[in-house]
Amino acid sequence: MVDSGRIVDMAQQHPDSIRTLEQRAIADATRPLAQAIADAQRAAGARWIRETIGAQVPTRLQEFIDYVRDLLKHAFAGRGKQAQRTAERAAFNGAQLGARQATAIAHAIQQTVPPISVEPGQEAQQAVEAIPSAVDQDHRHALALLTTASLTAMGLAGLNSAFTRARRAVGRIATGMAVAITSAVSHAASLVARALGDGVRLLWVAEADACDACLAYAGLHIKPGGKFQGGLSLNPQRTVFITAITGPPRHPRCRCALIPWSPNWPVDGPPLPTLLRQRAHANRRP
Ligand SMILES: [Zn+2]
Repeated sequence: MVDSGRIVDMAQQHPDSIRTLEQRAIADATRPLAQAIADAQRAAGARWIRETIGAQVPTRLQEFIDYVRDLLKHAFAGRGKQAQRTAERAAFNGAQLGARQATAIAHAIQQTVPPISVEPGQEAQQAVEAIPSAVDQDHRHALALLTTASLTAMGLAGLNSAFTRARRAVGRIATGMAVAITSAVSHAASLVARALGDGVRLLWVAEADACDACLAYAGLHIKPGGKFQGGLSLNPQRTVFITAITGPPRHPRCRCALIPWSPNWPVDGPPLPTLLRQRAHANRRP
């Protein structure tokens, strides 16, 4: 019989694999827009310097603003959709990873996993679909900062603040991707648990350096299709996430994971939920 400590060791590798996938995918998805914004800012800054020799602001300020707005429009053109497509692929890879991880756990406890068709699930899909409009919003906010009044008052700092605002879109893509991937990983684990049959549950594995909220979920379990209750935290003064959820992520950049588990599966040593809880408490940062 397999030792429950070994299963927990295996499961606690899952967050690292999720993080690696996430970081690679986010770098791929954000690079085109980040580069385009940086190029636009460089061009705008160069023209600003040329046109402000002996002046506070460019003499033909509205013309300058139109030029910068065009640069930004060009930088943003098609980027939301592009990021959405990258995120879609990443979510699919996340689902594959989740299915592999859950299957490996089941195999380690000598359970046979019937073939399943893996898909990222609704939450991942929603996170992916929200990316273009989030990008668009930051784009519009950046454009709105480019006014004759703001550039007259703030000068070059005003110009730069529009680009800082534009760069928020990069962060929004990253967040959307992270949520999509972790959700897809969880969803695939739930598909595996379901395929394993009646009585098989989903057990929460907190990542090693998880926050107090996530640590409170370690070792809790639900039926596939059920929900973990909201509002948990090891620090009751800071219960921030109040909604019930089907699984990780508890928050963006949460890399907790779910594993299939049944109280009827034979393992040596303490039950998996107990072990996961103990380790979460041991890992808590002071
Ligand atoms: Zn977490």
